[in-house]
Amino acid sequence: MKVAFIGVGNMGGPMARNLKDAGFDVCGYNRSRPIPHGINPGKTLESTVANASLVVTMLPDGDALQNVVADMLGSLHKGAMVVDCSTTDVASAQTVSKLLQARDLRFLDAPVSGGTTGAEKGTLTFMAGGSAEDFETVLPILKKMGSKAVHCGEAGAGQAAKICNQMIAAATMISTCESFLLAQSLGLDPQKLFDVVSTSSGYSWAMNDYCPWPGVGPETPADRDYAPGFAAELMLKDAKLALTAGWQQGRQLSITEKSVELFTDFVEDGGGAGRDFSAIINFLKDRG
Ligand code: NAD
Repeated sequence: MKVAFIGVGNMGGPMARNLKDAGFDVCGYNRSRPIPHGINPGKTLESTVANASLVVTMLPDGDALQNVVADMLGSLHKGAMVVDCSTTDVASAQTVSKLLQARDLRFLDAPVSGGTTGAEKGTLTFMAGGSAEDFETVLPILKKMGSKAVHCGEAGAGQAAKICNQMIAAATMISTCESFLLAQSLGLDPQKLFDVVSTSSGYSWAMNDYCPWPGVGPETPADRDYAPGFAAELMLKDAKLALTAGWQQGRQLSITEKSVELFTDFVEDGGGAGRDFSAIINFLKDRG
């Protein structure tokens, strides 16, 4: 099967490589950076998708998705399926779905959780929105890039699940960082804090799998001077998507509002641009 992979970056690179290693004929296209070694590079967006029966997109946001879909619409193979794994707003996924369906093309929004490590190891979790039939068709292919895929509902449901997850990840990271900083002020050894919390009621992915304190827990971006990993800008984007969705639904999300405020300050004025999102611990530390 010919697969076009559009957006071969930190996540898309290893995902495309896993598909290639599983025997798919993968051609990659990026707007602004070279295609990673081992992936066949496409010359233009249009020529990359022209013969593909599956197009996977892994782009920064909903605007990029809408632009790419508009640009490739006339070149897509009849009956082709587009699977968007980017994190976007729900409305972008629904708009693109309608646009493609009007041309007898198929679409799933299938954002992922698991980060660059999950992308490399092929252990991502996919959360998909679209028809059950399209989900079943693409499931064996998603399984080559991930270990779990959940069909969440109609178009946009995958993105809804993703932003609901991300608002929790943003808040628990901030809370975990504040817990380490308070422990330090109280004279508590960070390793002891980890030993207790990682098996107590305060445990979370942020503490157990993505610990923001260097030298404690599994190896994380904190042990690599906070090089991303999952960039602070992307977490800010995701927390904003959740907050905006809350406004649109008339739902107050007070903790998410605080997460957006802190990540905005961190990214815009606190040295967070280009850093992993867990580096917010240094920003919170400096605030005292
Ligand atoms: P990235 O910036 O490394 O990769 C994005 C790629 O898209 C780049 O290679 C860029 O050249 C390409 N691109 C951008 N606009 C394009 C266009 N118009 N046409 C063609 N190519 C274009 O970002 P990433 O970290 O791989 O994240 C991609 C998506 O995955 C984002 O939506 C992000 O929120 C989501 N995500 C990231 C992680 C993570 O840990 N990095 C985890 C889960 C989800």
